[in-house]
Amino acid sequence: MARAAVRGRLTWRLATVAANAPEARGVRRLALRIDGWDGHLPGQHVDVRLTAPDGYQAQRSYSVASAPGNATVDLVVQRLDDGEVSPYLTDVLRAGDQLELRGPIGGYFVWDARDDAPVQLVAGGSGVVPFLSMLDHHAATGSGAPVRLLYSARTPADVIGHARLQQHEARGIGVTIALTREWPPGWTGPCGRLTPQTVRDHVWPARREPRVFVCGTTGFAEAVADGLVASGHAPAAVRIERFGDARGARHDPGVPTARR
Ligand SMILES: Cc1cc2nc3c(=O)[nH]c(=O)nc-3n(C[C@H](O)[C@H](O)[C@H](O)COP(=O)(O)OP(=O)(O)OC[C@H]3O[C@@H](n4cnc5c(N)ncnc54)[C@H](O)[C@@H]3O)c2cc1C
Repeated sequence: MARAAVRGRLTWRLATVAANAPEARGVRRLALRIDGWDGHLPGQHVDVRLTAPDGYQAQRSYSVASAPGNATVDLVVQRLDDGEVSPYLTDVLRAGDQLELRGPIGGYFVWDARDDAPVQLVAGGSGVVPFLSMLDHHAATGSGAPVRLLYSARTPADVIGHARLQQHEARGIGVTIALTREWPPGWTGPCGRLTPQTVRDHVWPARREPRVFVCGTTGFAEAVADGLVASGHAPAAVRIERFGDARGARHDPGVPTARR
């Protein structure tokens, strides 16, 4: 039984694009219909595979942005101008097109809605995508877990899921957006890259023993993890999913990470 379930998850299947809509600057939400989809946990991802007419294949991973039980399985893809796969997903795919996909994948970077412990989400850029699923699932299940999101984006136009985040804020989720490059007039939120002090000011204190999820580029995730551990969070309570260029200074605060 378990073996059959695993085989099912890892089998490539066809997904049909129901919609491809703008989500933020250079970011599109692909709503997919997938026959036989068994559901996912918030935080899991899928693999997408593209095949060129000459047989060349490229494969990338994308977090599921929608909550379990949603009518469509949604991916939110940031277009990288020099990227191989993301421009095709954002610019070329249209409603009715199909693509190959397998999943859901991952059991580490997931939030369990039965867990009432405080939750701290820290996102950089498209790292917010798995948190959109977690927050929608939190709302859908009526979870009593107190949640805070600290989200670093470049400018207001780059904030992914802004309207939905405002709805979550209205129902009591703590949403702090930090802008690194451009601030609208009267902006009162944090400005510039997250510093250990910003992290300390806007996340649950360590004494609340939150479940902490950090998702962003390698540099972002490592800087945030350093700040969290320095302010007393137990490395084992901090789960990291990171992506992008691994160049640059690496500092291991002892926090386990999943590579994006
Ligand atoms: C588990 C997992 C979940 C992911 N979820 C998402 C998601 O929800 N949304 C999403 O847009 N992407 C997500 N990614 C990243 C995605 O898999 C691709 O790496 C990304 O779309 C770039 O692919 P590409 O073929 O366009 O670029 P490539 O041709 O592969 O790469 C171009 C260059 O960009 C760098 N790069 C790759 N990703 C990023 C990034 N996000 N930001 C900055 N630089 C980057 C690469 O190191 C490379 O130098 C996820 C990755 C993993 C492993």
